[in-house]
Amino acid sequence: MKKTYGKLDVLKGITTSIKPGEKIAIIGPSGSGKSTFLRCLNRMEEPTSGLIIFNGQGITDRKADIDAHRRQMGMVFQHFNLFNNKTVLDNIMLAPVYLALRDLRRLKWRNRLIRLRNLFRREKLPLHPINTSKAQIKAEARETALRLLKRIGLEDKAHVYPSTLSGGQKQRIAIVRALAMNPKVMLFDEPTSALDPEMVGEVLDLIRQLADEGMTMVIVTHEMGFAREVATRVLFMDGGSIVEDDAPERIFTNPQHPRTKEFLSKVL
Ligand code: ATP
Ligand code: MG
Repeated sequence: MKKTYGKLDVLKGITTSIKPGEKIAIIGPSGSGKSTFLRCLNRMEEPTSGLIIFNGQGITDRKADIDAHRRQMGMVFQHFNLFNNKTVLDNIMLAPVYLALRDLRRLKWRNRLIRLRNLFRREKLPLHPINTSKAQIKAEARETALRLLKRIGLEDKAHVYPSTLSGGQKQRIAIVRALAMNPKVMLFDEPTSALDPEMVGEVLDLIRQLADEGMTMVIVTHEMGFAREVATRVLFMDGGSIVEDDAPERIFTNPQHPRTKEFLSKVL
């Protein structure tokens, strides 16, 4: 996969594959293309060329249902990106409810068309079964959101607005908001970089728990200790390429590439 901005080659041909259950840490200097790579994975950025295959389907295809893929990829940013004009509960419920209601509307439309068609043909097509309702969708999303808040010990914050929370609380809520979509993979872009030091631990603990539960994840991080401990594989990026791709013990104790050595000697 390649990505250029005008004349700038930001990603100069990245080829890799990520298997279910892997925890990939992406490290590397500022401007090396880590965020761009992550954002290309769910097509928040459009790769200039190349292929991205997710769940066996090309998501860079014109015809790909990018929304369907995106909802299986949870994304967490450095700056939380919560909706400040919505309560914590609404932040978590918003996307699942929106998408489930949209699916419901689509099914109802399809059934209308089938009924219409069936009026005119002898051979009747079956209707799509609809076993949910608007109220049920909302109730289920609410239940999930409250369960997730309870998991992170913030159920008492369900009805407050994000501005009243600490950075660590906001980020943990951003993480469970992504989890509410029941994603197959979680993408984290420097999830602790904007936090005061005393709040880094609580966020890393939550990510570590998800890792232990088997979640597939890709984490761009400057927390080398965390990368070493949690990642099953570390990608070192520099100048728009993956320069080294290896097990954390190897990368951190015996890096092969001079650029990896140089980078680690500065940050460790
Ligand atoms: P950092 O550690 O600072 O977050 P990074 O490795 O995530 O860096 P990217 O944000 O992916 O780096 O940026 C890689 C390069 O692409 C940089 O030179 C950056 O200036 C450039 N770049 C990123 N986004 C754009 C954009 N929208 N338009 C033009 N150039 C961009
Ligand atoms: Mg970045």
